[in-house]
Amino acid sequence: MARCWLPIGKKTSLTKLSADVTPGFKGEEASAREATEELRGELIDLQRKLYAEERQRLLIVLQAMDTGGKDGVIRKVFSGVNPLGVTVARFERPTPAELAHDYLWRVHPHVPGNGEIVIFNRSHYEDVLVVRTNKLKPKSIWSKRFEHLRNFERMLADEGTTIVKFYLHIDRDEQKERLQARLDDTSRNWKFDAHDLEQRKLWDDYMQAYRDAIVETDRKYAPWYVIPANKKWFRDWAVMRILVDTLRKMDPQYPKADFDPTTIRIV
Ligand code: ATP
Ligand code: MG
Repeated sequence: MARCWLPIGKKTSLTKLSADVTPGFKGEEASAREATEELRGELIDLQRKLYAEERQRLLIVLQAMDTGGKDGVIRKVFSGVNPLGVTVARFERPTPAELAHDYLWRVHPHVPGNGEIVIFNRSHYEDVLVVRTNKLKPKSIWSKRFEHLRNFERMLADEGTTIVKFYLHIDRDEQKERLQARLDDTSRNWKFDAHDLEQRKLWDDYMQAYRDAIVETDRKYAPWYVIPANKKWFRDWAVMRILVDTLRKMDPQYPKADFDPTTIRIV
């Protein structure tokens, strides 16, 4: 598979990394949409086998700035996939009960079981992102979490969970346009959240926090893919491409019948 994501390292500045590029894709919007549709059939087929096989698990982590397209990816990449066996878990501001526990307490019950795909819409990574940028915990606390996150994911992987993590990368100008669209279009007003404007002021802090979180926890057993996401058609194709490739490697199979179907007569 040609690389359709952006490599980043300790010194990368996400603010300088273009969110407009379309790596690995030769062509324009129409051909990307066509390519996405071609992959959709395969995604549907592979998920069906994963569900029937009931032996492997897939965890998809989706992170992005507000308006970054998490909901759009879920809607567009997963449309047509059998809802049986696919779950979205959304992680919002922690409740008092959640805050009274360690930060992974609310996460672990949602990881996929055999045959399941779970999509995390936001995730345990908020605990090194919003928590850091908004100073909800001191550095002495959040800086230790990278190691917990690596170990948590390592444990899930060792126990049979395949993990893929996406950071949908948009830039500040694109966010401005998308927030404005939520004001201009009455059918999108419900998506506007004044809280997003507060977070927008912390853009550069978020970009640093994302870079560190990604670099610290990008591992073979739980890779991060930084997807340039200003262009929605590229974003959808790239996520679809990576997911299909991941599922191909998992290679789920329909279980073989432990009986001879030709010997059975239904009367
Ligand atoms: P949309 O992009 O569609 O608005 P969203 O993911 O922003 O969706 P919201 O319900 O608007 O969903 O916001 C969830 C909020 O919860 C985000 O601001 C996020 O940063 C916050 N949040 C998630 N996890 C934590 C956490 N562990 N601590 C503090 N805040 C958190
Ligand atoms: Mg929001």
